[in-house]
Amino acid sequence: MGDMQDIRNIVILTGAGISAESGIDTFRSDGGLWEQHRVEDVATPEAFARNPDLVLRFYDMRRAAVQTKLPNAAHDALARLDEKWTGGLLIVTQNVDDLHERAGAARVLHMHGSHFNAWCTYCDRRSPWRGPLIDRPPCPACNARALRPDVVWFGEMPYRMDEIYGALRQADMFVSIGTSGAVYPAAGLVQGARDLGARTLELNLERSQGSDWFHETRLGPATMMVPEWVEEMVG
Ligand code: NAD
Repeated sequence: MGDMQDIRNIVILTGAGISAESGIDTFRSDGGLWEQHRVEDVATPEAFARNPDLVLRFYDMRRAAVQTKLPNAAHDALARLDEKWTGGLLIVTQNVDDLHERAGAARVLHMHGSHFNAWCTYCDRRSPWRGPLIDRPPCPACNARALRPDVVWFGEMPYRMDEIYGALRQADMFVSIGTSGAVYPAAGLVQGARDLGARTLELNLERSQGSDWFHETRLGPATMMVPEWVEEMVG
């Protein structure tokens, strides 16, 4: 990756693969199933309308499970990069876990929302949330019993795309970590970054659907590949 000294602004996209070695299942790890469920049955607005109890219980379990997991060496390395990198940096994550934050990274944007917010469909406000939602607790802001997980489901619009594209326009380097390149618009960010002139690097366990779009692909587990790359960047 030549001309490292020319790199000032970095955008990083992370996916479920960066949290896999923390013991959090990726989306399609189990033959296309996510924790034994078809994605359409738990991660769409239609599923929530059809069977809210199933969906709320599913996310309650995920939210509880994530709290028993720890950040791994890849999250730690990105937190170190965030601390040391004096140029622009934005870690755009598709993950709804909080492992980037718990590792200490600050410049993190959750484009698919977070397990740790609840969204009131009555007053439209978001509140920090750690417990279950299955018992229809009241919204802390308005008391309505209309909270749902603040996660972006299939068919819904990811959050803060303006900010993401704003950062991409400034980016000299775009790095994708542990993401399958199957979920749009996240999967399209590499094309945008490339069109806007950034160097593009993929770190993943295996070649992803979007691999051909990257200038460089390095294959291996995130806990090895990410610390190695961060070492190159900040020494
Ligand atoms: P995905 O499951 O579609 O793909 C995961 C990718 O990570 C694959 O390309 C796989 O090869 C790679 N991978 C697996 N283990 C790895 C490792 N140890 N090191 C490096 N790479 C590894 O995940 P995605 O692309 O993030 O898919 C999108 C959706 O899944 C997102 O919308 C996200 O919200 C949701 N999701 C999030 C979590 C989480 O928050 N941790 C978990 C599961 C799913």
